[in-house]
Amino acid sequence: MRDNEDLEINETKSSVEIRKIGIVGAGQMGSGIAQVCAQGEYAVCLADISQEVLDKAISGIRGRLDRLLEKERLTTEQVEAAMSNIATSTEYEAFGECDLVIEAATENESVKIAIFEKLIPFLRDDAILATNTSSISITRLAATTDRPERFMGIHFMNPVPIMKLVELIRGIATGDETFSAIENVVAQLGKISITSEDFPAFIVNRILVPMMNEAIFALHEGVGGVADIDAAMKLGANQPMGPLELADFVGLDTCLAIMNVLYDGFGDSKYRACPLLVKYVEAGWLGRKSGRGFYDYSGEKPVPTR
Ligand code: NAD
Repeated sequence: MRDNEDLEINETKSSVEIRKIGIVGAGQMGSGIAQVCAQGEYAVCLADISQEVLDKAISGIRGRLDRLLEKERLTTEQVEAAMSNIATSTEYEAFGECDLVIEAATENESVKIAIFEKLIPFLRDDAILATNTSSISITRLAATTDRPERFMGIHFMNPVPIMKLVELIRGIATGDETFSAIENVVAQLGKISITSEDFPAFIVNRILVPMMNEAIFALHEGVGGVADIDAAMKLGANQPMGPLELADFVGLDTCLAIMNVLYDGFGDSKYRACPLLVKYVEAGWLGRKSGRGFYDYSGEKPVPTR
C-alpha cells in the first residue's frame, strides 16, 4: 500500500505539463525563443520593457517564418498558427497563466534579480522559472527567488531557430520534476539538450568566449587585422564564422559580461577581458545589434574596421 502511494506521488510529480510559456526580454534571444516555442505549439507570452522592441521582435519572427514559407519548409497554416500562438506585453500580469517563464533579458545579474522580484508575485506557485543566462550562477539566481526547486538554467544558442543545442543547468536545489519537464519542452522544440554543471559560463561559453577574447587580444596587439584573424580561423581551423564576426553576432556587451563572470568566478587572470573589448563596449560599439563592432554594418556588406 505504501509503495503504491509513493508511486502515485511520483507520477503526479513527474507529470508537470507545460502548455503556456512566458518569456521576459524580447531581444535577439527572447524573440528567437518565442518563435521556436510558438512553432512547437506552445502558447507564448513575450514581454519587454520596450513596446518598440516587442514590435521589432514580432516583425522579425513574421519575416523569418515568411522566409520558411517561401522555401516551402512551412505551410501558410503553420505560419499563421505559430503567429497566433504569440501574445506580447510590457506588464507582468500576463504571466499569471504561464506554466513556465524563461527570463532572457540583458546579461546583468542585478537586472535579472530585479525582474524576478517584480515577476514572482504574478506567478502561480507551481510555475517553473528558468533563465537563459549565458554565464551567471544558476544557484545564486535561484536563491533570490521563492522557488529554487522549480528554477533552472535553459541556455539556448544563437540564432535560436537554427541552432540545435540547448544546455540545461541545474542549480543545487533544482528538483528532478523541474528538470524532466524542461527536458520534455526542449525535445518538443526539436532541439537536443546536454547537461552542464553549474560552473561559470557552463560548457559552451567556457570554451567559446575565451577563444573570442583571445582573438580580440590578437587584434589589440597587432598580430593581425580583423579580416586576417577571421579568415585564419575559418580557413585554418574550419570554423564556420571567424571569432570577431562571431563576437559581433553574439553582442560585445554579452561577450564582456561573460568574460567578467569567468574572471570573477574563477579568480584566474587567464580570463581577463581584453581592454579593446572593454573600450568597444564603453563606446556603445556592441556589434551587429548596434550597427558597429569589429565590422561596420551600415552598408550592404560588413566592412572590417581595423
Ligand atoms: P539583447 O540585448 O538582444 O536583448 C535583451 C533584452 O532584454 C532587450 O530587449 C531589453 O529591452 C530587455 N530587457 C532589459 N531589461 C529588462 C527588464 N527589466 N524587463 C524586460 N526586458 C528587459 O540580448 P540577448 O542577446 O537577447 O541576450 C539575452 C540573454 O540571453 C542574456 O542573458 C544573454 O547572456 C543570453 N544569451 C545570449 C546569447 C547571444 O549569443 N547573444 C546566446 C545565449 C544566451
